[in-house]
Amino acid sequence: MKDIFGLTVEELQEALQPFSLPKYRARQIAEWMYQRGATGFADMTNLSKKLREELSGAFVIGRPKCKDRLDSSDGHTTKFLLEFTDGTAVETVLMRQPYGNSICVSTQAGCNMGCAFCASTLHGMARNLTTGEILSQAIVISDMLRAEGQGEKVDTVVIMGSGEPLMNYENVLGFIRLLHEDYVLGLSYRSITLSTSGIVPQMYKLAEEGIPISLSVSLHAPEQELRSTLMPINRKYPLVDVVRAARHYAEVTKRRVTYEYILIDRVNDGEEQARELVSLLRGQLASVNLIPINPVAERHLLRPSAARIDWFEHYLTAHHINVTVRREMGTDIQAACGQLRNKHLEG
Ligand code: SF4
Repeated sequence: MKDIFGLTVEELQEALQPFSLPKYRARQIAEWMYQRGATGFADMTNLSKKLREELSGAFVIGRPKCKDRLDSSDGHTTKFLLEFTDGTAVETVLMRQPYGNSICVSTQAGCNMGCAFCASTLHGMARNLTTGEILSQAIVISDMLRAEGQGEKVDTVVIMGSGEPLMNYENVLGFIRLLHEDYVLGLSYRSITLSTSGIVPQMYKLAEEGIPISLSVSLHAPEQELRSTLMPINRKYPLVDVVRAARHYAEVTKRRVTYEYILIDRVNDGEEQARELVSLLRGQLASVNLIPINPVAERHLLRPSAARIDWFEHYLTAHHINVTVRREMGTDIQAACGQLRNKHLEG
């Protein structure tokens, strides 16, 4: 049976053609799936009973099961392990920030980019997620927030969980476009951030899509050699080309690019790296987000001391680079992406 979760209204209209329904029915079904928490046609009470039965015989609404859930002790962060029908599981995180609810979605089950600091890549990549599977992560959380009442909703989405989104380009673009639709979450493109390890050709392609989402680039080192040791993809798409593509994105979309920089003790947090980083980014419409590493037990990478983090931050500020340090969230529930899924895979 065809899974209709993740279809646009237009695609639904096409799928519903054999039923000769008026066009507005497709929109009603979409609203049920994406805004009203329907998990099956039986829930869609504004359709006749006969139609509901016919649709149930032809389609399924593929939604993941929640396999595991961890709440941080401060109550701000919840991590979900969601399982799709084929047994593939991915992590999705809800962060309750002072400015609203932000969710972080995965775009691939695992990842094969091999970044040295990342738990998501330890088991390689199982497969790309479909548009519906990526969207279902946002909808599961949206439904949960709505059930809490008090107007709680998903305010921002970051595409920063497991996987390299630009290696699953079409499905991720389909997801972003759906998030923006008023029959889904109606999010502005500005409240959606995509994070990439630097897949240069797709960065240029993304700039031409006419969807001015925020772009975040995983930089993590300002020198070619060091970056290649941390992020093997840097050998294919060298640092200078990544920064050039990011600059192009900022120029086309007029959106400030954020460079993510995981601070790792004695690896990339020294004066030399701070100096190089300043010269690499000077004059760009960009900011740097410093992320003191969540130690990954398997990788023996350590978090710098608070004094070293402060020093690095102040060096950048003093040299007119916009900089933020990521607030600690959920370290007690292993917020580093991939860790919960790994636990599940390793039984
Ligand atoms: S940091 Fe992102 S791109 Fe790198 S291995 Fe992890 S999930 Fe993949």
